Amino acid sequence: MTKRPFELTVEEIARAVREGRLSAEEAVSSHLERIKSIDANIRAFLLVLEDFALEQARIVDKKRKAGRPLGLLAGVPVAVKDNILVQGFETTAGSRILKGYKAAYDASVVERLKREDAVILGKTNLDEFAMGSSTENSAFFKTANPWNTACVPGGSSGGSAAAVAAAMCPLALGSDTGGSIRQPAAFCGIVGLKPTYGLVSRYGLIAFGSSLDQIGPFTRTVSDSVLALRVIGGRDERDSTSADKSVEEALSGWEAGIEGLRIGVPREFFIKGLDPEVEASVRGSIETLESLGARVEEVSLPHSRYAIATYYIIAPSEASSNLARFDGVRYAFRAPGGQGLEELYERTRGQGFGPEVKRRIMLGTYALSSGYYQAYYGKAQRARTLIKRDFEQAFRKVDLIAGPTAPTAAFRFGEKTEDPMAMYLSDIFTIPSNMAGNASVSIPCGLSKAGLPMGLQLIAPAFGEGTLFRASKALEAARPFPGLAEVA
Ligand code: GLN
Repeated sequence: MTKRPFELTVEEIARAVREGRLSAEEAVSSHLERIKSIDANIRAFLLVLEDFALEQARIVDKKRKAGRPLGLLAGVPVAVKDNILVQGFETTAGSRILKGYKAAYDASVVERLKREDAVILGKTNLDEFAMGSSTENSAFFKTANPWNTACVPGGSSGGSAAAVAAAMCPLALGSDTGGSIRQPAAFCGIVGLKPTYGLVSRYGLIAFGSSLDQIGPFTRTVSDSVLALRVIGGRDERDSTSADKSVEEALSGWEAGIEGLRIGVPREFFIKGLDPEVEASVRGSIETLESLGARVEEVSLPHSRYAIATYYIIAPSEASSNLARFDGVRYAFRAPGGQGLEELYERTRGQGFGPEVKRRIMLGTYALSSGYYQAYYGKAQRARTLIKRDFEQAFRKVDLIAGPTAPTAAFRFGEKTEDPMAMYLSDIFTIPSNMAGNASVSIPCGLSKAGLPMGLQLIAPAFGEGTLFRASKALEAARPFPGLAEVA
């Protein structure tokens, strides 16, 4: 049976459009219909750009008819997490405080997608300002996991992950500060890449923790992830943290196979609290890698046990500073009533921010306050250096580190909302890689007995995306990914 356009991968759509076997308009319409028929149950999208998407698609089709060469993502519908700016459209970051704010320019990643003839399909739901692990902190509504709609899709990029898993688009962008691409990818059974810090421009990303934030792609296949990174990655003058590295350098050798690759399994990633089914599937994948020719050995990341504590000083500190700009003067929401500037700030921020964001701002402001700065932020920075050093040591012996992405498969709505600490622990295995700024990916490694996806995390040294994909590709070929979630 021939596949319907919404079932195709990024590569398949782009090739078919370039070769004239599928029009961009057909590709986009098929995804728009899919959204119409299922998104009422999933609620991945905050905004669907129906008219704009069709208009972009027709431009691509015209270009082809005129004989002009088409880009790498010709006609590919892409969803964008709603903390990334798409010019002319509302960008809320999942917060009431930005409701009604229209982006004045395109983020660099969006500009690059458009340049390669991709079609921006819509904006996806997220935890408010990307703070959360379940998308339950969105100010607007919750997104469901396509594999089981009683469960969360993960977070904070839950809308993007759910959209790709449910075939509402073959590619979506997310952001990852402490795990927000990898953990939802694991929960939704897809590929989620957190590129090396500096490899993908953050110009036009609403900043959360600036020393940690990275933008990256969600896809259903490994080579789609490679293709997406090719398009969005590389030096950007407009982001002062952008590295002077080309994507091709980072990707080098990605098709080399895994013969001889040395894989380290960190002792500290197999601890109490790790779900036995997740452990079994992760260990199974590592055995598969070994049987395919990789050499596996144990490594140690002793300071990773401080990662959560360190992160919850550094990320809130940076957030408290980044979020100071939302004050009722410059952007969108302004609380009515009140007298004087101070009251305007208080009322706007009091009404505009949700409880988790307020908790982070208070934590961060406290940690940065004079007299406490060295004791908290300074100390956290020193712990961060030790975490980073652990990776450097491990990477002297191995090329790649493998372990679980998250301690469990997707949990149920409400299961962790009353207990912030339990929610924070979802990121115990993903945060270390943000601390170190290296490259990491989550790929599917099986379904639990309950039918929920589980994720394997691979971590490579900075700019080692090629190594991540070497192993990912081999595993994908050996143990096919679960594919599309069946959505009623
Ligand atoms: N869940 C983590 C947090 O709440 C990470 C979020 C993210 O990566 N944006 O901060």
